[in-house]
Amino acid sequence: MDILKERLLKEASVLNSDVLKVDSLLNHGVDPQLTMEMGREFARRFAGVAITKVITVESSGIPVAFATALELGVPLVFARRKKTLLGEPDAYMERVPSFTKGIVTDLIVSRHLLQPEDTVLFIDDIIANGDAARGLIRIVEQSGARLAGIGIVLEKSFQAGGRTLRELGYRLESLVKIKSLDNNEITFAE
Ligand code: 5GP
Repeated sequence: MDILKERLLKEASVLNSDVLKVDSLLNHGVDPQLTMEMGREFARRFAGVAITKVITVESSGIPVAFATALELGVPLVFARRKKTLLGEPDAYMERVPSFTKGIVTDLIVSRHLLQPEDTVLFIDDIIANGDAARGLIRIVEQSGARLAGIGIVLEKSFQAGGRTLRELGYRLESLVKIKSLDNNEITFAE
């Protein structure tokens, strides 16, 4: 998505060779028009798959997942992220490390929001090591629903998450791939 690449070059800042700060577009602020365009692009790429639900993780995944769900005409579910010692019997729960916060949190989805008849599209903002995605995939699989694919706005392809999930056979589509953040510079993969 060229428009997204242009906006990243203008607005994102490289924190270090592993982390990009994308506050104005993904992690703190939202551009509704650009977000709707991302949603349309995901809906276009997954057209032809009979998706019944979009799922994401709070909070940064929600705007683009909402835009995708609106385009597809299906409901959105977002996993809540909590640090908790208590189990929730009515919910699926998976413990995952947080890439940016350096802590472990639990992803939680109420059982009644995911059904075995569902075909689910997982949408998220950024993939790094893939821990959040793997946690969410385990939740979808526990529910008996089918995972149709994964849509990621920004794939940092120098980290292993996207590659590992594709090797496991999941269909992962990213809007923009970043192959390096070295020398304080964003280098796109293609
Ligand atoms: P993963 O679980 O794939 O290692 O990391 C995914 C999550 O960590 C994303 O949902 C995103 O919120 C956050 N994250 C990973 N890398 C970055 C980054 O470079 N910048 C920002 N702002 N967040 C990131």
